[in-house]
This record gives sequence, structure tokens and C-alpha cells, in this order.
Amino acid sequence: MGLSGICEAVIMPIKDREANRKYQREWARKNSKTKKKNQVGFKTRQKMVDDAKSHPCVICNKEYPIEVMELHHIDSASKTSTISQLQRKASYARLRDEIDKCAPVCANCHRLLKHGYVDLPELILLPS
Ligand SMILES: [Zn+2]
Repeated sequence: MGLSGICEAVIMPIKDREANRKYQREWARKNSKTKKKNQVGFKTRQKMVDDAKSHPCVICNKEYPIEVMELHHIDSASKTSTISQLQRKASYARLRDEIDKCAPVCANCHRLLKHGYVDLPELILLPS
């Protein structure tokens, strides 16, 4: 009983500390692998999204840089996930499916639409 109770409580036995470190190393290794796996095809997915955005806004018909364009789910009921989520990790087919449900709208119209100031045009000819 040489050491104080407090110190004894926080000092882990050497063996456990090694096991803990090993566990942390494993965890880091596994997670960096998962991260890499998710990044495979990210550029392709990003290009798919960028292509879908590189059309004039379906509401105001103006062309904007893709950074200003957003993809709006025409039928919110059919929305299974956000495009940005799928862009991070999803199969190309899954992302393609979701993009097909969307219309390109500029950020301004998207906001107006969201708050009910404008409507989507009756007939949307989706870019193919
Ligand atoms: Zn617009």
C-alpha cells in the first residue's frame, strides 16, 4: 500500500497499456483503410454531380457556375438520400438514380422554391 489510492486507480498495468495501444493502432489502420475505400471513385462521383449541375437553372433558365447550382429533388417523396451523402459513398448506379430524380436549380431559386415563392415548371426536361 505504498502508492496512494488515486494513483493506483489511474495507472494501468503495463500489459493492458500495450494491449490498448495495439488496439488503437489496429483501429487507426482499419479506419484509414475504410476511408481510402470510400474515397475510391470520389472524383467520378463528383464529376457525375458536377455534370448534373452544369445546366441552366430550370426555374430562371440562367446559367451559373456549378458552385452556385444545386440539385433539387423534384418529388421529395422519392428522395432516399441527399446527393452530397451519396457523393461521399455510394455506388455509381445509386448516385445516378438519385441524380435522375433531381432538377438543377440555382441556389437563389432553390431557396425561393423551398419557401414557396416560386414553383417548379410544369414540365421539366431533365438533361440526359
Ligand atoms: Zn434559378
